[in-house]
Amino acid sequence: MEEHMSRKVVFTDLDGSLLDHDSYSHKAADALLEELERDQIPVILTTSKTRAEVEALRLELDNRHPFIIENGAAIYIPKGYFPVKPEACIEVEDFWIAEFCETRSHWLSLLEKAKELFTHKFSHFAAMKEEVIAQVTGLSLEQAQLANNREYGEPISWLGVDKGKQEFIEWLTEQGGHVLQGGRFLHLSGFCNKGEALAWLAAEYKTQWNLSEIKTIAIGDSGNDVAMLEKADLALIIRSPVHAPPKLKRLRGFFISEEFGPRGWNSGLRKIL
Ligand SMILES: [Mg+2]
Repeated sequence: MEEHMSRKVVFTDLDGSLLDHDSYSHKAADALLEELERDQIPVILTTSKTRAEVEALRLELDNRHPFIIENGAAIYIPKGYFPVKPEACIEVEDFWIAEFCETRSHWLSLLEKAKELFTHKFSHFAAMKEEVIAQVTGLSLEQAQLANNREYGEPISWLGVDKGKQEFIEWLTEQGGHVLQGGRFLHLSGFCNKGEALAWLAAEYKTQWNLSEIKTIAIGDSGNDVAMLEKADLALIIRSPVHAPPKLKRLRGFFISEEFGPRGWNSGLRKIL
């Protein structure tokens, strides 16, 4: 039947969007999450967080859908979720995984080379004790362990002067790396983003579920969400208590929530649906 051929899929950022910026609570969104599940609208957790961090939350939310980690570096699909394993996926434990970036070990061996050129000028997660990571990030030891459980990129702490830092970034870029300046760290990874991951997974839903149309809705609050907010059929920007909404190039099909975090997620998404 025609009306069953079109399906909606929601891709949502976590911190500052589904989760409150300060308390990390998702309570204000819980009722709507349940309704979406009942209406068979998959909610895809789409985040800069690691697999280990997302898996804990996924259990808490009882979310059994695929999820996107480390800013689009990889998509984890529970085995058997689709009728057939997507061709591009590798099979690891209970998941089919589509990877869009080189793995962490690739970047770690590049950093070993960098140590010869930029001796004692930087440190990075893999070279730090987890107690130290907890100290420099302000995370608890347990959270620091989950955050250190990265698969596709490496946070770097630059210890030298600013001029050398630019040379360091240029060198890593020449070697095929993509360096993002975060609040505390430089983040080294390959070229991937939430938008490319969204497009790949949406196409997979369409083929695997034999749909005539798939309507994607992306929800996010900051710069690393822009790629998916641009790419989705509809975009919901969640207002942040700490920064201005990211600017989009698109002129239609986007909304800005009135409320912050999960409250804005709830009221904003209800309006769109
Ligand atoms: Mg966010």
